Amino acid sequence: MTGSWLRRMTAGFGLPAQDLLRAILSGPRSVEVTGTPATGLELFLNVPAREALARFAGTPLSGLTSALPSLATTHSRIADREIRKAAWYAPCAAWVTACPSCCGRAWLPGQSVLLYPQAVGHVCRRHGRWLLAHAAGSASIPLTSLPEILTAHHRHVALAQARPEAAQVVALAAAVVWSWQVQGWKAETVWQDRARRLASVTGCTPAAVMPHALLAYPETIAVARLLSNPPWRQRLRAKAATAGVAAAETMLRQEIGRRVERPWLADWLAACARIGPRQAARTDPLQGWLLKSVNGISGDALWTVNRAAARPSEYSERAGLLTDRPVRSVVEEAKAAFLTGGWDPAAVLHPPRRVP
Ligand SMILES: [Zn+2]
Repeated sequence: MTGSWLRRMTAGFGLPAQDLLRAILSGPRSVEVTGTPATGLELFLNVPAREALARFAGTPLSGLTSALPSLATTHSRIADREIRKAAWYAPCAAWVTACPSCCGRAWLPGQSVLLYPQAVGHVCRRHGRWLLAHAAGSASIPLTSLPEILTAHHRHVALAQARPEAAQVVALAAAVVWSWQVQGWKAETVWQDRARRLASVTGCTPAAVMPHALLAYPETIAVARLLSNPPWRQRLRAKAATAGVAAAETMLRQEIGRRVERPWLADWLAACARIGPRQAARTDPLQGWLLKSVNGISGDALWTVNRAAARPSEYSERAGLLTDRPVRSVVEEAKAAFLTGGWDPAAVLHPPRRVP
């Protein structure tokens, strides 16, 4: 993150970040700096301000941007091309605290290394940690007792490398798994067991960890891999053409059940549909995707998620739908363990705008 980099750079000089920023931007033309490092975690610069920063750093802007990609992120409120503008605002995308074992030397007292995880940077595979968002210190979840998360991450990395649409696919898969979660999967034994292990390493109660992205991560990646598999999409189309969409849907649910090691999944979903349509069932993301897929729809339209079915981006909203405990106490507990921020599969629905 640009703000994290500038804070650490100025701390090295023993200067307040704002003083050095103003010195870097000062010149013959006027300068406008909005906010302070205390009011916004991220620093946004318009193009003239970026050029001034590159001159100060003695590096071409292209080189500085490739080393610090967040520098290319623009903000609509400072899109002036005449005067140098900088602003401290909240980050526009999910961020995490870097793995301290990987970049400990870059840390300074009270100045964490913060970065945007993008598609798959939320896990440090080398040290087996799920990175959390803590602005002033180290925060991560050790994955020693959660080996299925590392396996899923390995597959997620392969998916991201193989499919340009991977982020959209994972967001859709997260909505699919979420639809099961809100239909009552919270009592499911595999998740109960994972929630207990996650609660144990985070020092939280199982209710406080239940809305976290880690809990449904292996299932989400398994669903994403299947939905983005072209031969499987062909098989579903062939099945729908010969035996009808309902038969294709059963085949899809059975295959997902096999891949997530819940052989009862297809029967359970069919029973849920019979018991009565809930809001999640009426806008079923898996059914929506299947109908589009068998009708030959491709491209971005295939991966869109009905807003009503999307996994809520707010931890409090997820907690309200998953636990019987008072939401406020659940969220406070999760917040104290830095579980309410960081990477989330739904975050790709709102990507930051970038300068071409
Ligand atoms: Zn590491």
